[in-house]
Amino acid sequence: MICILIRGFLSVKTRLGEFMSSQGTNYPPGYYLAGFTVVRIPKSAVLSVKSCWLSEHIPFELHGLNAQLGLSFALYSEFLRGGSSRWYGYLRSLPSSVDLPVFWAYDQPSAHGRGGGSGIVGALTGNYDHDDPMLWLHGTEVLRRLNERNRKGLRLPEAIDLYYQDHVLPVLKRPDIRHLLEQEPALNGFRHAFGLVSSRAFLLDVYHGLAMTPIADVFNHVVENHVHIQSDFYVCSECGSLRECEHDDAHHDSTLKLNGETSDQDFFYEMVSNADIAPNEEIFNTYGEKLSNAELLIQYGFILDSNESDVVHFDLAEITSLFASTPNGAVNPLPFSTWRRRDGRISFQLWKLLLQLLVSRGNRTKATEHWSMLGSLSKEELIEAAVTQIHVERKLHGNGPDDQELESSNVHESLWTQVLLEMARVVVRLCETKKETIGHPVYVGQDFGEILDSVPVDRQRLRLAVSVAMSECSILDSCKFAWMDVIDVLTSDDDVIE
Ligand SMILES: [Zn+2]
Repeated sequence: MICILIRGFLSVKTRLGEFMSSQGTNYPPGYYLAGFTVVRIPKSAVLSVKSCWLSEHIPFELHGLNAQLGLSFALYSEFLRGGSSRWYGYLRSLPSSVDLPVFWAYDQPSAHGRGGGSGIVGALTGNYDHDDPMLWLHGTEVLRRLNERNRKGLRLPEAIDLYYQDHVLPVLKRPDIRHLLEQEPALNGFRHAFGLVSSRAFLLDVYHGLAMTPIADVFNHVVENHVHIQSDFYVCSECGSLRECEHDDAHHDSTLKLNGETSDQDFFYEMVSNADIAPNEEIFNTYGEKLSNAELLIQYGFILDSNESDVVHFDLAEITSLFASTPNGAVNPLPFSTWRRRDGRISFQLWKLLLQLLVSRGNRTKATEHWSMLGSLSKEELIEAAVTQIHVERKLHGNGPDDQELESSNVHESLWTQVLLEMARVVVRLCETKKETIGHPVYVGQDFGEILDSVPVDRQRLRLAVSVAMSECSILDSCKFAWMDVIDVLTSDDDVIE
């Protein structure tokens, strides 16, 4: 299969057209069915910790940040070999800059242009947005994730730099290795390699693990994608074999392995279409069907205009701060709760937590015998509350409240109605309070859409950061308005559910 690279995406029109007509299909010329192998990538072409020239010096991890850092080391070591690298041509085809938020903080004006000696470092010079983008990320999901700490208490930027100091530099400084490098190692070059790994690597199988995979990494992302990579994951972890090999023993399960003649599976990874592809259509992969814009921005450096996976999280302190006093022990130590986009719906986790907080408070003030004082609500109580909520939502959506199945069989519905009313007020307050913490502190309360319109198109970081803040505020707004409707229903004289 010959693939032609046109403006950054693959056009396989010509050859696929020939194939389809040879198969006698009724599809129009150039129309391709799902299940077609679009690209075959030789296993020998992938760049991984196992295949790089410093393989024996880089600890292998299959998953997680250490897998990313190990592959960054492998990739960077190949960059440093320059023309002597097996992947020289591939390396030259990679983007010279991957602008991820994890590196934005480094590019303050004072650091502008200070390269550090590596040719790759030059890739990191360019237009900087100074400190504005980071300020715009205040309170957003992006900054929350960037501030998360690993088991060693390190945030991502710190973990990257520490890995370079502790693992990469000591190896690269060895005399037997250093004299083979065409460039001096530099931290910025390693960071660039990390950006490439973050945005382009594939988890292939238990042998290569995470790997740079030529051609597979040129497809852009959409949720409704055309192609995906296919590989047999459980190969021999020692040699990569799909078949019985000398490493088969108690530690290597040979029952998963293939029998018979070798086939393409032994030598190639394949990009296979999972949807029909129309002529001249850009072929997309998906980097993850449920990735939010915060996840996309952190890992890949871009966001979607509209992303149904976007959520806003609250930490427990943000929630309980709206309650004058929270009974000790009444709240499970849930770290976060979630809002969902589109319909302004709150997660079940948050709904249940708010119920619990309200009921506990209600118990102290109203002394009703029907509600639990502390601990989790019973299943019956949750069902009663849910039935009441469904009544309200049916009223909201015009479906009428008197569904036979939902006809109230419990005697506490009016009490749950009061709790739901309180919950709606709390949710509205939560949204308003949260919104005040999102975005550039100087511009809180202003129209972020208007601000975005005024940002020049070449200030990409700033545009991304303002977009993220704007999007999260709109999630909060949609949630707030949805729950204000709930308040309207519950306080309307005619519609109060009795
Ligand atoms: Zn083996």
